[in-house]
Amino acid sequence: MGIYKHLFFDLDHTLWDFEKNSAQAMRNIFADLLAPRMKVPFEVFHEAYVEVNDRWWDAYRNELVSKEDLRVGRFSESMQRFGLVDLILADEVATAYTDIGPYMPHLHEGAHEVLHELGERGYIMHIITNGFEEVQHIKLRESDLKKYFIEIITSEEAGAKKPDPIIFEHAFKRSRADASESLMVGDSMGADIHGAMKVGMDQAYFNPKGIPHTESPTYEVKALKELLGIL
Ligand SMILES: [Mg+2]
Repeated sequence: MGIYKHLFFDLDHTLWDFEKNSAQAMRNIFADLLAPRMKVPFEVFHEAYVEVNDRWWDAYRNELVSKEDLRVGRFSESMQRFGLVDLILADEVATAYTDIGPYMPHLHEGAHEVLHELGERGYIMHIITNGFEEVQHIKLRESDLKKYFIEIITSEEAGAKKPDPIIFEHAFKRSRADASESLMVGDSMGADIHGAMKVGMDQAYFNPKGIPHTESPTYEVKALKELLGIL
């Protein structure tokens, strides 16, 4: 062990393979609820949904829309693109998505091996996530990740989202960690990396797609396994 004692991990898109899980959940829901009402193949609908969903999440992160707006709006807007205007159905789709999404099992490659090994090396590990409290706990339990973590900090519980320093300070207090002995691992330059920088915590930017940027995180990895070479 080097200078770090506490490792803080982001969950969605870092450990939990959000894209793969979301696509699988949407495929099931599309077959059940939307295919009978729409004449588009799943792939076409899903491509539109991914784009619409990204925009709604941006708006939610910037506090332009509420949790409830986000929950239903992304589906009603996606459906409207293909001429289906039905708020009741959109609400049903949203409910089904929230119900089954968190139970999808896919993790980013190497997640279990890396977390297990880091635990063996004596690191104290925690989660800091901007997701919803109930949903994130289901994901952690269903994907068998919970056992690696001491504290699970959600934005809902902390009352602030990354990159707001409030959620990081809350995490330090809960875990009795100090920024100087901690590392944040996450896929979001805006939320995870900038957030950690603001509170003086080192950062490992998980950038599996090699998205170009001009920032200088402490570390950058393309695969979770690379963390084992750093820590
Ligand atoms: Mg993330």
